[in-house]
Amino acid sequence: RSKAKGRGTYTVFTPDMVDAYKRKLSLANSMDQAVSNSEFVVYYQPKVAGTGRIIGFEALIRWQHPELGLVMPGEFIPIAEQGGKISAITRWVIDRVCQELSVLQQQIDSRFRVSINLSGHDLRDAGLFDTIHSVFERYQVEPEYIEFEVTESAYLENFALSNKFFRRVSNMGCAISLDDFGTGYSSLSYLTQISIDTLKIDRQFICKLETSERSRLVTGTIIDLAKRLSLTICAEGIENHRQWEYLLEHGVEHFQGYLFSEPVPLAEATELSQTFARDTSQRMALG
Ligand code: C2E
Ligand code: MG
Ligand code: MG
Ligand code: MG
Repeated sequence: RSKAKGRGTYTVFTPDMVDAYKRKLSLANSMDQAVSNSEFVVYYQPKVAGTGRIIGFEALIRWQHPELGLVMPGEFIPIAEQGGKISAITRWVIDRVCQELSVLQQQIDSRFRVSINLSGHDLRDAGLFDTIHSVFERYQVEPEYIEFEVTESAYLENFALSNKFFRRVSNMGCAISLDDFGTGYSSLSYLTQISIDTLKIDRQFICKLETSERSRLVTGTIIDLAKRLSLTICAEGIENHRQWEYLLEHGVEHFQGYLFSEPVPLAEATELSQTFARDTSQRMALG
């Protein structure tokens, strides 16, 4: 608690703040060991088409910490970025996904595509492109089945470098998504200068679709914009049928959210895709 008034100015750390600080410190200190011991695991969340059929997955990292249990990326990715550990983690994720992609494709559908999240730091990592290229060769991955997601704000943090990086990745054949779209910037003119395939509408708009006219307006505008630019639209964070129906009616093509599935480990992802296998059955089962 910080006391600005009273006798002099002093700051008292509450027990909660001390705990949070200790946890952050302990995560930062055990990050090296996590990388060398491969304490990470990739979870997969399905992306579905309008029919409810699974068309691919988003890879989402978790850290299985020996003492703290499962730690979520929202907590440790920023710490990894600050500690200069993100490029090692990104390389681990790319390697693991390429290795596991063949399992998903062989067991279920050879056309499944998996998307990998990159952080802003990765776009400044001069060697990343060559790493991607050699990992593809090692696992015989066709680039068209890998997609990279980057947030709008990370892309724009270093526009020239991002452009250069993604142009190469796109030329190689990978797809590119702009993640959390609509939350970052007011100027949209940059969209005409970049090579992306998909806009992902941020969950904050989707979760307020039913209650907020403004969210409906922004969502409609993003959809319209994407259509005019011939970009695919993916809506994330769909939790109920009303949101899905609304977005379907307004022309959204790809969907992600707890309504379909939470992110799950690889073994469950292959099971999921078996039950989602036929086009309409899942949609009817859900409805
Ligand atoms: P993101 O890329 O925008 O991923 C979507 C997040 O929303 C995921 O959280 C997912 O589990 C969650 N989500 C999906 N559907 C729903 C829903 O219907 N309702 C709600 N409430 N949440 C939903 P997660 O897995 O905790 O990841 C958080 C963020 O961490 C990601 O946001 C991404 O920015 C970052 N991240 C995850 N994996 C990686 C990675 O391998 N590398 C990097 N650099 N960042 C990653
Ligand atoms: Mg993402
Ligand atoms: Mg997102
Ligand atoms: Mg996000």
